[in-house]
Amino acid sequence: MKSIVVLGAGPAGAAVALGLKRLGYQVSVVSEWRRFAALEGVSQRVLEALRGVGLTRALAVAGEPSRRHSRWNSEAQNRNVEFLLDRPRFDQGLRDDLHAAGIPLIEARVLGVRQEERHSVIELDGAPSLVADFHVEARGRQAPQHDKSLGRAARGPETLSLLNRWQGPPGKSASAVESQPDGWMWMARQADGRCYWQWTLDVGATPLPDKAALLDFCRERRWESVLARAFFDNDQEQDLELHARSSTAILTPVCGGEGWLRVGDAAMAVDPLSGNGIFQSLSSALQAPAVINTLLVHPERRELALRFHQQRVEHLFWRFARLGRDFYLEERRWAQEPFWQVRRQWPDGEPVHAEACFNDLRVEQAPVLRDGFVDLAQVVISPDQPLGIWHLNGMELAPLVSRLHSEPAEQVLAHLGPEQQRYLRSWLLSQGYRP
Ligand code: FAD
Repeated sequence: MKSIVVLGAGPAGAAVALGLKRLGYQVSVVSEWRRFAALEGVSQRVLEALRGVGLTRALAVAGEPSRRHSRWNSEAQNRNVEFLLDRPRFDQGLRDDLHAAGIPLIEARVLGVRQEERHSVIELDGAPSLVADFHVEARGRQAPQHDKSLGRAARGPETLSLLNRWQGPPGKSASAVESQPDGWMWMARQADGRCYWQWTLDVGATPLPDKAALLDFCRERRWESVLARAFFDNDQEQDLELHARSSTAILTPVCGGEGWLRVGDAAMAVDPLSGNGIFQSLSSALQAPAVINTLLVHPERRELALRFHQQRVEHLFWRFARLGRDFYLEERRWAQEPFWQVRRQWPDGEPVHAEACFNDLRVEQAPVLRDGFVDLAQVVISPDQPLGIWHLNGMELAPLVSRLHSEPAEQVLAHLGPEQQRYLRSWLLSQGYRP
């Protein structure tokens, strides 16, 4: 049985490792701990995705849902519900899930990886090197970028997030987001009194003091905000700490090759404004076990499997980049300020969703996931779903759509049950089908 090493025990690495183990591979994970304690907000669908992949111990860390207060373009809203994830506890939960599945975890820093005669050799700090048939790069934003011969990564506007963390008095957990002329601020409180304030700014446009003065600079900045003053409602700041992290959106140019695959933030990292980082990292990790299975068992489908992975990573990256742009566009007060000006235009002016038109639907062969492998199938390509739709609620779409171009709907749908008919009719209407 082929051996696989996953580098990084974040949500992406853990999800891939569990998926590979289920397929019967001998898989191990090597990771060091994150170097700082952060709090992150996730939506209900992230929790569902975690449950779906079997990361139940990590899932158990999510606290009660809290309403996220938002002040954007002068409008105050309590629209979204957010679950707060304490990252050190969440990361521990991921490791507990690996342990429960019988997946060995080596606690070590990866120094480098090289490909040698069909093997990956992984050099570790203070431990013997590992040799594996395949390796998965899941070291998040810390994963080294490829050498330039594979192309350049696509990057959004250079962005930095400064996180302040301190201990305040206990209270109710809550979170809030606020736009400012030079960026946006996210703040959160946990019931035990831990407080977080994160300022996301444009690297080129924001003059920052040197490192020694940065903490005081952030503190002053924080107390200038009326919302932050009301939100934290107390000036007790024990153990105040600062951590800076890059939050530039990055899409790596090549997500896989001979003996390796990139997943999670190592493949693409998105703007934290979307609050979708963990969701996206899980999406690429969910498809990865079948892609790797195909590369190892059906090497003749190598190009197909890699195309499947690459296209999906890229599609999701650009879709979320445009969603982020539209959110920045909603803030109109400072459209000419450098932070907003550049983010209102990146990545382009394309709409997030292309308009539906039944006559534009095409039936083509495209890579799909079938029985744990990447395979070719007839799918329906629409302007909004350029990667194709294979099944809709259990129905194979391509034969139905092909017939609908020349036959009446009643005839094409006749063999389907009433529920499937309803489902299909509503999808057809959403695609602009007018019999
Ligand atoms: P990570 O979670 O980064 O996991 C990588 C693992 O690899 C870590 O355990 C790390 O210690 C390990 N590692 C790294 N280098 C090495 C090495 N050399 N050797 C060994 N191990 C190594 N997402 C949300 O959903 N909600 C949010 O609110 C949110 N806020 C964010 C705020 C900021 C400022 C940023 C930058 C990101 C935010 N994200 C958020 C995104 C989220 O953190 C990531 O998308 C997600 O953690 C990516 O998962 P991953 O498994 O790909 O990588």
